[in-house]
Amino acid sequence: MKIVDLHCDTISSIQKNGQSLYDNDCHFDIKRAQKAGIGLQFFAMFTMPQGMNELRQILKQVEKYHTELDQCQKYLHPVYTYEDIITADSIGKVAGILHLEGAEALGSDSEILSLLYRMGLRSLGLTWNNRNLLADGVGEEPNAGGISSKGKEIIYLMEKMGILLDLSHISVKSYYDALNIYNKPALVTHANARALCNHRRNLDDSQLKALAENGGVIGINQIPEFIKEEGKPQLNDLLDHIVYISDLIGIEHVALGSDFDGDDVLLMAGVEEYIRWPQLLADRGFTHAETNMILTENALRVIKAVL
Ligand SMILES: [Zn+2]
Repeated sequence: MKIVDLHCDTISSIQKNGQSLYDNDCHFDIKRAQKAGIGLQFFAMFTMPQGMNELRQILKQVEKYHTELDQCQKYLHPVYTYEDIITADSIGKVAGILHLEGAEALGSDSEILSLLYRMGLRSLGLTWNNRNLLADGVGEEPNAGGISSKGKEIIYLMEKMGILLDLSHISVKSYYDALNIYNKPALVTHANARALCNHRRNLDDSQLKALAENGGVIGINQIPEFIKEEGKPQLNDLLDHIVYISDLIGIEHVALGSDFDGDDVLLMAGVEEYIRWPQLLADRGFTHAETNMILTENALRVIKAVL
């Protein structure tokens, strides 16, 4: 099995610019992903919370995803069950998991969640940075609240249906509430360690320890401001986050969540650079088995437990 990456925003980018998922100017396309050894990519749908029309915007992105699935049939395989990941690997295709970043499109309607599930949704982050009907996001700090009663119902439903829970972007109180409510391992698909870079989206040591207790994983994010507070970060600065989190909570909780197309400039130029990662991790002292855990197995363990 090849590399698993827990977050990219490429679908919303190409839905706007009209490019294809197979070959484009973005950080991620299937052509480069295949060459770089990507086995599974999460595809986020995202629209800025604006109090109206979010569902309409998200449905357009669902349609774009399905159009691209049709056009990339030879190379891209949609994931509805864990077995789909194994199948994709065995036939040499990139597996894709459809994710929703921020639940504004749901309002608090479980029927919309069910409908999106029928359309292929298998992963959900309750909030982006703002407060919504389900929970508060990290942008509401320092006085942010936790999960609402409707949010609790949606989390129970996600657990029952087999939808992955992503705790990136959520407020600190909501984070701990969600871990208490959801009885399966959680994902933090794209964030780093607060101890190394004091950004509001990074997790502090207590949050990381709670994630380890839950059995979850964190995907390491490549946006420069999440890596280093001052100066231009280098690859070693990113690897520092992997080493730090591994030492603090165990290597079995570390994965990758690039945030391709989530910002204009990332640490890597694009998905093509993932080809260097097995060697980069080896150069930092990780064994072959540990490298496989970070690149692949840790994320798959959580996905298998949920889907
Ligand atoms: Zn994000």
